[in-house]
Amino acid sequence: MKCPNCGCLKDKVLDTRQSKNGTVIRRRRECLNCGFRFTTYERYQEEGILVKKKKGYIEPFKREKIIKGIQLASKNIPISYKDIERIADIVEQYILEEGKFLVESREIGYIVQEELKKLDKMAYIRFKSVYEGISDIKELENILKEVKNNN
Ligand SMILES: [Zn+2]
Repeated sequence: MKCPNCGCLKDKVLDTRQSKNGTVIRRRRECLNCGFRFTTYERYQEEGILVKKKKGYIEPFKREKIIKGIQLASKNIPISYKDIERIADIVEQYILEEGKFLVESREIGYIVQEELKKLDKMAYIRFKSVYEGISDIKELENILKEVKNNN
C-alpha cells in the first residue's frame, strides 16, 4: 500500500480488525520508509465510509478531520497527540464494529465529546459548541451547567 506521506510502497501491518458481521476489515499500517501510520479498509465494495452531515449532505469519512477538530478544540490545552489519536481510533473502531458504510456526523461528534469530557472539560466545551454549531449564550450556559453539575 502506497504511503500517503512519502509514496513508498513498503509497509507493515500493525493491527488487523474485523467488523462484527465480518463485512469490513481494518488494517493499521506503518510505512517502512518514513514510519507514517495510516489505515486501510477492505470491504466487498470499493467504497469508503461516508459521513452524513447535520445539513444532510454526505462526505467521505476522514480520520484527519477528527484529529483537526480535536486539535482546534484543545488549542492551549494540554492534550497530547497520542490522546487525540486514541480518540480517532475509538471513532474508527466504533464505525468498524458497527460495520456501517454510512455514519451520521452526530454519532462521531458524540463519541469525541464523551472522550474529551474525560480528558479536559474546557476542550469538551469548545468541541461541543463548535460541533453542534452553538451560537446562543443560553445554550452555552446549559453546557457549562452540565459540566459543573457533573463535577
Ligand atoms: Zn512513508
